[in-house]
Amino acid sequence: MTLILGLEGTAWNLSAAVVSEEKAIYDAESTYKPLHGGIHPREAAQHHASELKSVVSQAVKGIEAEGYSLENIDAIAFSQGPGMGPCLRTVATAARALSISLKIPLIGVNHCIAHIEIGGWRCGVKDPVVLYVSGANSQVLVYRSRKYRILGETLDIGIGNALDKFARHLGLSHPGGPKIEELAAKGTKYVYMPYVVKGMDLSFSGLSTAAKDAFTSHKHKKEDICYSFQETAFAMLTETTERAMAHRCKDEMLLAGGVGANRRLQQMLRTMCQDRGASFYVPETEYLRDNGTMIAYLGLLMYKSGNTTPIEESTVNPNFRPDEVEVTWRD
Ligand code: AMP
Ligand code: MG
Repeated sequence: MTLILGLEGTAWNLSAAVVSEEKAIYDAESTYKPLHGGIHPREAAQHHASELKSVVSQAVKGIEAEGYSLENIDAIAFSQGPGMGPCLRTVATAARALSISLKIPLIGVNHCIAHIEIGGWRCGVKDPVVLYVSGANSQVLVYRSRKYRILGETLDIGIGNALDKFARHLGLSHPGGPKIEELAAKGTKYVYMPYVVKGMDLSFSGLSTAAKDAFTSHKHKKEDICYSFQETAFAMLTETTERAMAHRCKDEMLLAGGVGANRRLQQMLRTMCQDRGASFYVPETEYLRDNGTMIAYLGLLMYKSGNTTPIEESTVNPNFRPDEVEVTWRD
């Protein structure tokens, strides 16, 4: 049996989790909540630094309850990127310290691929088109020839950030996505929003601006704006995902990332899949948002395929793209 300890802390959620080949054994978390505004990278990093000891200790206690101990851990996996520089550096420093003191290998994990692999594991889906939508990222991906290929992506901000920005404008606290979803459910009238799809790529920053104008200058009801924002943004995502499925001849799709918790987005994608005779998969919400289990799980796949990270190659990369990673754990 192999046990991997995974550390996640790319943005606001700090987590330490342990997985084996059989199951997710324990996941300890501590979430940074900004007092006002969005995520401040330095404040989030300070939160992670002060909470790291506690989450790692909780994870160790969690595995002790299952009859394991720290000595049974085979390797330390951590999010090497993408993410906020100060947060990444804080968590990577802890990961290196654990690797050196426990004398076990270090595994630098791409955070986006971790979102994809945990979804595949939980849903039992092998070769889907993936829509990965989180705070900072929005990508359509498919696996081919040892790489996760990005077929389409946002040209500016991630869909989650676009929702969070507009929510802040409405005076709502972070994270705004779930609050926009609630307001949108009460909207009835479609207000014009820019629908920007360029080939397979997307743009969301104009949507945030248009939504702010619709509220402040044009005095539309916030429920109607949230409804229109979601309908427009999610239709853009559904369109590009469907085109990827058509061109790559795939009949399975997997939703990943924190924005994937949105029921309207799930509904639109499910309908699109049903209409083309394809299957739609989405994991439980706890595995959609950032979590340590996904880092430990990808760490396990990498470890078992002999893919570990020497300390001198463990520098973090805030712009780490999934298509930079050589996939060693799939045929
Ligand atoms: P992640 O970076 O994967 O943890 O995802 C965080 C992002 O997901 C934030 O931008 C949240 O606002 C967004 N989010 C979480 N739940 C929802 C939801 N129900 N609807 C829309 N966005 C959401
Ligand atoms: Mg994420």
